[in-house]
Amino acid sequence: MFSLFNKLIISKKIDFRKGEIWMFGTQICLIPPDVYFEIIKDLEKNNNQQFIYDASFKSAKNWFAKVVSSTKKKSKSEQIELVPKIFELFALGKVELLEIDLTKNFFRVGLHNSLTAELFGKHNSPVDFQFAGYLAGAFSFILGVGVRCVEKQCLSNGAEYCEFIVSVGESNV
Ligand SMILES: [Zn+2]
Repeated sequence: MFSLFNKLIISKKIDFRKGEIWMFGTQICLIPPDVYFEIIKDLEKNNNQQFIYDASFKSAKNWFAKVVSSTKKKSKSEQIELVPKIFELFALGKVELLEIDLTKNFFRVGLHNSLTAELFGKHNSPVDFQFAGYLAGAFSFILGVGVRCVEKQCLSNGAEYCEFIVSVGESNV
């Protein structure tokens, strides 16, 4: 991740100016994990996972369009390869493409050491609805069709790592 970070700084894809951080033409802000966790935990407690998923979906779809334009990656395969690299910059865990089936628009993605799951601890349902929204948004942009993402197994439910299924369909958490 650090070598990618360095490359992005050198190529000015990440830009620090006047108290701001810009990455691929979008301003980002860094918030401490406990602040992030309080927000996520409260929304989850009140059954608002869909709100986080939808907001993450929209954000990732727009952001990925800028990333693709900035990196000039034209083919779907090249853009899909960007997914783990780009999403690791969010520092939510190590991202791995486990299965790619372009004929069915079906993908399995792994997230190792999920920060969100570690913050939640043991929980009775998957907790990475934000990351699921990011994946759905990015793949929706890349494939040009409606895409949903479901977290099939989660570290917070006792799995070794989190696993997400991305497929064509209505985008619900
Ligand atoms: Zn998870």
